[in-house]
Amino acid sequence: MEENRQGLLIVLSGPSGAGKGTLCKELMHNLPTLQYSVSATTRDPRPGETEGKDYFFVSREKFTELIRQNQLLEHAEFCGNFYGTPQAPVQHAITQGKDVILEIEIRGAEQIRRKFPQAVFIFIVPPSLEELRARITKRGTETEEKIRQRLDKASDELHYVSEYDYVVVNDQVETAVEKLKAIITAEKCKVKRRLVQF
Ligand code: 5GP
Repeated sequence: MEENRQGLLIVLSGPSGAGKGTLCKELMHNLPTLQYSVSATTRDPRPGETEGKDYFFVSREKFTELIRQNQLLEHAEFCGNFYGTPQAPVQHAITQGKDVILEIEIRGAEQIRRKFPQAVFIFIVPPSLEELRARITKRGTETEEKIRQRLDKASDELHYVSEYDYVVVNDQVETAVEKLKAIITAEKCKVKRRLVQF
């Protein structure tokens, strides 16, 4: 039996503060062949964020231009800023047989679901809303108003869990990463993803 040569497209969503970023970093550490899709955003960089590694930080004009030139696989507005997935690197990696991970919010994930129904959709949830508030506040990068906006958004987003294939509670990073690895392994073993050639 031959392996399917197409890479797996993995979509990770979940409320801001659920710990998607940390889980993604740990997962990349554990699975070095996994490719992280670097998004474009109009949001300002946070301290410690690197251009081209965490995000491509662009102006609104540039973002509009990317949409107009059809260079984004999906895009959405989130708390007053725009975010989008550059198309070319994702498509290139998948056709090369590389697995790619997208860390995006729910409306972007919906667009991906329409274009790539074969993608794997994973929803990350915090252990509780209280814990979520504590995590966003502790990050110390957002104003009170932005924290409130993000928490409102988080309560909304939690309703969308049923649209996803898997849900992972991020109470302990190590355990959550083990679950993500198990999901990826199981998905790669699915019969429908393999080319049967005897
Ligand atoms: P943050 O500002 O905290 O980095 O991200 C805010 C939200 O935007 C998070 O839920 C994050 O997953 C999401 N996000 C990041 N990149 C993208 C993207 O390319 N597309 C979409 N739709 N959402 C994104």
